Order: sequence, then C-alpha cells, then structure tokens
Amino acid sequence: MKRLRLLLVLLSFSFAASALGAAQSAGLQSATLKTSDTTVQLVPEARGPRLASLSSGVENIDNRATEELITSAEIGGKSVSLEWKFNAAESRADAKVVSYVYESASPHLRLTWNWEIRSEHGPVEHVTRIENLESREIVLPLQASFVFDWRTAELNKLESLYIEKGADSPTKDGTHLVKVLDDYKWEGKSSSYAQSLHGAAREVIPFVLVEHTTGMQTGFYVGIEFSGRTKLTLSRSGDSLKSEAGLDPLDGEFRTKLKPGEVFETPRVFVGTTHGGPDATANVIRRWVRDVLTDQKTWNNSQYPLVVNKRGGVNLNEEIANQAITDAANLGFEMFHLDAGWSRAVGDWQPDAIKFPHGLAPVAYYAHAKGLKFGLWVDWAQAALSKASGSLNVRDPKIKDWLTTDLPANWKPDEFKGQTIDIGYPPAKAWAMRETDRIVSDYKVDMLEHDGYLVAKGCDRTNHPHAAPDALLKTTYRDAGFLFSESENATDVSYHAARAYYDIQKNMRQKHPGLLLEVRNDGGRMVDFGSAAHGDYFSLTDTTDPLSNRRAFYDASFLFPTAMLEAYVGRWEPEASALDANVFRYMLRSGMMGSFSVMTDTSAWTSEQHDVARREIQTYKDQLRPLIRAGDLYHVSERPDGKQWDGIEYFDPRTGRGVVLAFRGSTKVESSHRFILRGMDPSLTYQIRFHDGSSKDRTFRGDELLTGGVLVSLPKPFSSEMVFVEALPSDAPRR
Ligand SMILES: [Zn+2]
Repeated sequence: MKRLRLLLVLLSFSFAASALGAAQSAGLQSATLKTSDTTVQLVPEARGPRLASLSSGVENIDNRATEELITSAEIGGKSVSLEWKFNAAESRADAKVVSYVYESASPHLRLTWNWEIRSEHGPVEHVTRIENLESREIVLPLQASFVFDWRTAELNKLESLYIEKGADSPTKDGTHLVKVLDDYKWEGKSSSYAQSLHGAAREVIPFVLVEHTTGMQTGFYVGIEFSGRTKLTLSRSGDSLKSEAGLDPLDGEFRTKLKPGEVFETPRVFVGTTHGGPDATANVIRRWVRDVLTDQKTWNNSQYPLVVNKRGGVNLNEEIANQAITDAANLGFEMFHLDAGWSRAVGDWQPDAIKFPHGLAPVAYYAHAKGLKFGLWVDWAQAALSKASGSLNVRDPKIKDWLTTDLPANWKPDEFKGQTIDIGYPPAKAWAMRETDRIVSDYKVDMLEHDGYLVAKGCDRTNHPHAAPDALLKTTYRDAGFLFSESENATDVSYHAARAYYDIQKNMRQKHPGLLLEVRNDGGRMVDFGSAAHGDYFSLTDTTDPLSNRRAFYDASFLFPTAMLEAYVGRWEPEASALDANVFRYMLRSGMMGSFSVMTDTSAWTSEQHDVARREIQTYKDQLRPLIRAGDLYHVSERPDGKQWDGIEYFDPRTGRGVVLAFRGSTKVESSHRFILRGMDPSLTYQIRFHDGSSKDRTFRGDELLTGGVLVSLPKPFSSEMVFVEALPSDAPRR
C-alpha cells in the first residue's frame, strides 16, 4: 500500500510538471502559492484557469478539471455565447496572491480568477469575480466557486467528514464520518436560515474533509465562506473524485443581474491539505479561522469569551433587569444580556415605555457600574404592525415594498417574530445600517445579538436587485413563525441579502470598535464561515439542555475557534434525577466548553446553587478560558448520547496545560471511564488534578496518558469532573 502511494506521488509530480510545460510553451505564467500546510499549483491554460495540483508535502493530489467558466450571458434579453481569452498583461502572481484575468470581447466582461494566502499556515482561498464592462445590464448564469476532479487510486480507502448545523436542536448524528466508496455521491446544502422541514436533509456547515482512512490520514478539505444558499458536492467513480463548491443552483436556473460596472463575486472558498485525522485538521482550521476570518480586536480583550447572563420575556422590566444585574455581578458574570421583551413591538426598536420608563441607557449604565458589559437582543430585519414613527410597519406602502412577500390581510406577527425585509434591497439595507448603528449608540450596547430569520433566502419582488421570481414556481409557506417565499430566484436573493448583511455588520464594527456581535438566528441556523467573518460568536442551537449543548459543541468544534461557540444553559429539569449540586454542576459544565451563557433567572437558584455557580464561573475564567482561547482541542470520546460517558480535552502545548471535561450520562452501570489523552509530550511528566476530588491527584508520564489515558470515576449518573493536566519541569520528582 505504501509503495503504491509513493508511486502515485511520483506520477502526480510528473503529471503536474507536464501541465506546467504546456502552459509555459503557450507563453502563460504558472504560479505556486504555499502555506506551511498547503501548496497549490495554478496554471492559466488558454481554455481556462486550472488548479493543477494540491500538495501537503506528504501527498500530491492532481486535479484534472479546468475551472468551468460560464459559456454564455444574456444581454438585451438574448443569450450570447462567451469566448474567454487569457489576458497576461492584467494578470499577476506573487507569493501571496495569484490573479489570472480572462476577458470576453463581446459582450465585454472581465473575469478574475483569484487565489490568495492570508496566513502562513492553513488553507488557500479562492474567489472568481466577473465585471460587466458593457454599458448595458447583463444577466449571468451560475459561475461555480470551485470545481475539481482529483485523481485517486481506485484502491484507496477514503472517508469524508461533514458536520450538521445545530439548527433548532442537534440531531442524534451531527458529525458524520462516512466511507467514500466507488459510486459515492453526497451533497451538503447551507442557507442563511437552516430549517428542519419534513423530509428535507439537514443543512450542513459548508465544509467537507476527505482523507485516507489509514496511515497518515492525508487528505484535503474545502469550505465556503458565505451565508447565502450554497452547495458542496462530492462523488467518486473509479479513479475520479469530483467535487463542486459554490452557490446552490437549486432545481432551477440561476440568474443574476449585473449593471454596467458591477461585479459578481462567487462565494469565497478555502482549500487545504491535511494529515493526522479530523482533530488534527480541526486544530489547523480553528487557528486559521481565528487568524484570518475573525476580528482581532475581539481577541485582544482577554475576557473574550465573556461569561454571560441573559434575561428576557414578556414580564421583563427595568426593576427585574436591575435585580438580575445585581445577582449577575454577585455571581461573577461579565455581561448582562437583555433578551426579547424590551421593545415596544417587533420592528419598533424603542424601549417599551411602561417596562422601561427611563429607556435602556440607565440599565446599561447600571450594568457598567456593576462591572458588566451590556448586551442586547434585536431581530432587526423584522417588520410588524407598530404604527409608531421610525418603526417597520408591514402596511406602510414603502415598507411593504421591502418585505420578501405580500402578507395576507389578516396576518399577525408572533410575539417576537414579524416579517423579514429583504436587506438586499438598497433602501432596506440603508435603513438597517442606520437603525443598528442607532441602537448601539442610543442604548450603550457592548454586544448586539441578531436573532430570527434575518438574511432573506427567498423573495418575490420584481423591483429588487436580485433576479425576478418565476411566478409559476413560487411557493409560500409558514415555518418557525415566519412567512417564507421561494422561487428559482431564491439563491440570487440570498446572494444579495448575505452581502448586504456583511456590509451592515462591517459598518457596526467600524463605527463601534470593540462591539461584540452575536449571530443567533433562532439558534444555530446561520453557522458558517461567512458569518464567522462578520460576527464574534454563534449560538449553536435553540435547545438549552445539557445534552443538546454538548452535542452542538462536539459538532461545531471541528470547524470554529471554540471561543465562538456559545451554549445557552437554560432552565433544566432532569427527569431521572434531582437537580442537586452535583447535577447542577453537570448542567453548567455542559455549557462551559466554549462561550458560556446562562439563560435563566438566577434569582431562582438556591443559595447553595449560587455558591456552586460562583465557583464554577471563577474556574471557567481562571482555568478553562485560557485553554478555550488558545488550546488545541481533542474529541476524546464518541459524540455525546446522554447515556454513556463523553468528554473533550483541551491541551495547549505552549503552556503544557490542559483539561478533560468529563461527563457521565444516565448510565447506571458504568461508574468509571478511561479517556485516552492526546497532544502531550511522551517524555514529560504531568501533574493530574481532579478538580472535584473524585480521585487522588497524581503524576503520569506523557506516554502513559497517550496510551493508557486517565481513569475518571464518578459514582452517580449525571455527573461531571474537570481533570486538569500540567506539565512538570523535567527534573521534578514523581508522586
Ligand atoms: Zn427581494
């Protein structure tokens, strides 16, 4: 097997070399981009640009596919074919960026095929831009982001990893590691609001990893940095492994309009090579997302991710908010987050004058005086029935034109849900930009959460920038409290709305440096790499019990820095057990693996629970958060099922510190469990400390932890332990 792979590597190199030779003889410049993990060979062939190979240094993978450039466009209602010619003079290549320009003379279009490195490690990013150089509007069909056809030996045993969104509630699977056999076919879809409609497949976080099942588990991955409707495919046949990434054409024909001078941009993708299995890949990707996609100002605050208490509901008022702030400060929380229930109505983002007679600023000031940041829930893309000045009223003829669809005469909003406006429509976007800025300024907000169905993924208006709907294919339905309208134009709708959303988020960050942005969308419905680049953390799911929190974390932690992964710890009444201090800790810790938010009335906690929570919050800040911010993460158990044991391990090789968060589910028989650890130096000695004292502290050599692991014993179901690990100086005595 090893010899076969070596042979393939040699063949691959000779293939790549011959392709380069052909390009050079045609007078075209081939180029290389290289990070510590990934090298790509790029060739501007006459018929189109091509990523010739992807290499990790260990393995070289040939791509047989030339990028499929669109072959036609519509101008003045007529379809015309396009002939692309490479423009060497306009193309450029340096160590960070390669841009190959192709032009169509008539109609006059310029296509830029761009690859870029934004970090010394991790993947390489790619985008294609098409600019309309005509003096008339032009309509383009779908340009895929990236198409490839890898040459793979038929005998190679491959597997693929993909991850579901925790939308609504995580399913029992969530993380999928599947064999990629001959004739394998897969597609994963993502949109701006993942729905769990009957019969439809779950949405995935747009990413796929393919790796060898054995040996060094070499492989590659592709992810999409966009929140609109996107699709990833993977299929294997013989020695060919094909994949396509980009906007999702749905069943219809994608069309997008470009005015003179406008540019269509494919969703940005990232492509990288990997080895060592999913956790090793995840440790590279998380660091890359942190360095390249996220806002560095956020990380500069050593309190990030903050410990948050969130309160809301219909009974909310100033007195309750202030009492909650007092208790939150007393417990050690770092942010008070005001949830739905504070405003006059949906779409009317002024404080309710009866509940908050002095407005919201005094609540924010009180939080600040108590040493807390102030966070605020808003569902700012929603219109409803308020007639107050400045509100979004669905019956107002101007606002009606912003809605994604007409509403029936008897339409009424839900308590905290209205009708989505299409922020891809410039007047709606301009309003949202002003309104979000006003809310942050007026209410002294340190963190703004956006909730609900925010980025339109369907719209039947004909005067918006997106393509018009096909009236025959149009469907309208209600789901999750919102009215959705869909037609074959839906992907183009989402394309425009997602870009507008990014502009709105960028605008807030620019005007309010240090402002935190929470991406919630009814819990885990817009978890993707595009929103990761335009927000600071995600709520992962809408169910707040311990099992849902651990499952959602297990899944998303393969792809994002865990500081971005927010669990809401809600009110929980276990059926099988009393909520004593032990079970209470289990509940809290199930939300303490990433960003930790408690969404419950803490004044209902007993004084014993207050004491427990205060200690847990302190431990989170002192000992867990440094690891969450900077440590590597290992999934050291099966995905949680609530019955067996599960756990995750953090380890930071720079400090030699780590932790295992261990959970015993409902099992009545398995009272101890062995976790095999990862990441330690086999030759060093480590102090192992059982935080709750469930076992005696002792020292182990690294190789013992890596092979024999650490045994955790907990006598009762629904228990937890935090096992801290610390490297000792190499000459320290063993105990
Ligand atoms: Zn629209």
